[in-house]
Amino acid sequence: MRKDFLPFTRPAVNEDDIQAVTDTLRSGWLASGPANAALEEAMCKLTGNKYAVAVSSATAAMHLLLEVLHIGPGDEVVTPSMTWVSMVNMIVLRGATPVFAEIDRETMLVQPESIREKITPRTRLIVPVHFAGAAADMDAIREAAGNIMVVEDAAHALGTYYKGRHAGNSGSAIFSFHAIKNVTTGEGGMFVTDDKEMADAVRRWKFHGLGVDAFDRLNKGRSPQAEVIEPGYKYNLSDICASLGVSQLKRLENINAARRELAVRYLELFRDIPEIRPLGMPDYDFVHAWHLFVVRVDSPKVDRNTFMNELKKLNIGTGLHFRCAHLQKYYREQMGYKPGLLPNTEYNSDHICSLPLFPDMTEKDVEDVVEAIKEVIK
Ligand SMILES: *Cc1c(COP(=O)(O)O)cnc(C)c1O
Repeated sequence: MRKDFLPFTRPAVNEDDIQAVTDTLRSGWLASGPANAALEEAMCKLTGNKYAVAVSSATAAMHLLLEVLHIGPGDEVVTPSMTWVSMVNMIVLRGATPVFAEIDRETMLVQPESIREKITPRTRLIVPVHFAGAAADMDAIREAAGNIMVVEDAAHALGTYYKGRHAGNSGSAIFSFHAIKNVTTGEGGMFVTDDKEMADAVRRWKFHGLGVDAFDRLNKGRSPQAEVIEPGYKYNLSDICASLGVSQLKRLENINAARRELAVRYLELFRDIPEIRPLGMPDYDFVHAWHLFVVRVDSPKVDRNTFMNELKKLNIGTGLHFRCAHLQKYYREQMGYKPGLLPNTEYNSDHICSLPLFPDMTEKDVEDVVEAIKEVIK
C-alpha cells in the first residue's frame, strides 16, 4: 500500500505561476485590470472566438448568460442532468425550468436526439456539456437545436477540439478556472462568444451594470462618466487570479499532454480488468482534454461507494463527477423527478468514479491506483 495519500487532483502550479502572481501583487493593481485583459485575449486566441469576458466562476457566467438572455419564468433550458448542479441551480434561481436530456451510456456525452425530443415551444436555450474533456457532438446538437440558442458548457474543455475547432469556436461557451480544472485561477470563469451584443451585456452585468469595465486601458481606470445602465452583479475576477490563469494557459498543451499520457496508461492497465469500465469514445474527430479519468465500477462484489471508501483506506483519493442533478433532494421533492426518467444518466450516476489524474502525477502513481483497485475488487 502507498505510504502517502494520492489525491484525485492537485493544481499544477509552478514557479512561473508564482512569479506571475507575485508580479501582480507588486504592481499596485489587484482588482480587474491588465491581467484580466491578458486572460481574455489569451482565451480568444485559444478558442478563436471574437470576444471573451472573464468572470468569477463558470456558475457566475451561467447566471449572467441567463440574465442577459432574459430567461425566466415560463422558459425552459435543455441540458443534461449529468452536469455540475450549479448550472442547473442558476436556471432554477432565474425562475426558469431545467429540462434534462439523456446521455449516451458509454461516452456520457449528451445525445443530440434526446435534445431534439426535449425541445418545446418554451425552449430558449440548450447547454450541452463536453463531459470529462471529450467533445459533445456539436454538429448534430446544432442540427437538433434549429434556431434555438446553444451555449456550450466547456468547463471540462480547455484544450478540447471538435472536428478541428476548439470548444466554443462555433458559437458561445462557458469555461471554468476552478482549482480542479485543467487551467486554474483558484476560482474563475470565462464567457466566450462571437456575438458582440451578448459579450457587451455580460461585461456590463458582471460589474454593477456600469457602461464600462473596472479598468479601461486608455483611461488607466474607470472614467468619471461611468454610470449604471441597468443594475448588475459583482462577478468580476481579480487580477491576482487572472495572472495565475495567464501563466498557466501558456502551458496548456504541456498540461494536457501530461494528462493524456497518464490516461493512456490507465486504459492499457484496465484492459484486463472487466469490473472497471472506462468511458467509451465517440467515433467523430475530436481532441480529448482529459480533464477527468472516469470509470464505471461494474462488480457484483463491490458497489461504487464502497469502492471509493476502500480506495481511500489504501491512500487513493477519488472524485464523483457527477451525481445526476434530477435525483438530488431539491429536484426530487420540488420537481417530482423519480428514478427511471433517464436510465443512462442514472446508471452512470450510480457507477462512476473519477480516478486520480493531474499533470504532476507519475506513471508509478497510475500503477499504484490500479494495484489498489485490484485489491479492492478482489
Ligand atoms: C466545474 C464545473 C462548472 C462550474 O464551474 P465553477 O467555475 O466552479 O462555477 C460547470 N459545469 C461543469 C460541467 C463543471 O465541471
